[in-house]
Amino acid sequence: MTDEEDLRDEIPTYAYISLARRGMEKLSLDQCFLKNCDNDDPKLLEPFKKEEFENGKEQVRKIYIKCKKCGGTFILKLKTLKQIAKSTKDSNEEPLSMGLVYALDEDDNNLGHIGYF
Ligand SMILES: [Zn+2]
Repeated sequence: MTDEEDLRDEIPTYAYISLARRGMEKLSLDQCFLKNCDNDDPKLLEPFKKEEFENGKEQVRKIYIKCKKCGGTFILKLKTLKQIAKSTKDSNEEPLSMGLVYALDEDDNNLGHIGYF
């Protein structure tokens, strides 16, 4: 079974948090986002399921992760906005896409916006 490894590949290593004037802070996504858990050992995090859906402007991937330290399950929700910000001047420019990471608990309750990827 290589499913787990494949799922790991789907998870960006870092999210970036904007700190206003102080630039961006890098935050590892190899950690448990459940309350009262400080697990940041990737070996104790087991991604086991993925859901993917898409509507016109955005693509959403939800990766379900089991934490072996607290025994809980949380979800990393990766949302890619496919908004195309093309200006007529620079028609060769790549369309901009932006990714947002959220953490959800097992019941889909939002634990917060983590950052960008
Ligand atoms: Zn945990």
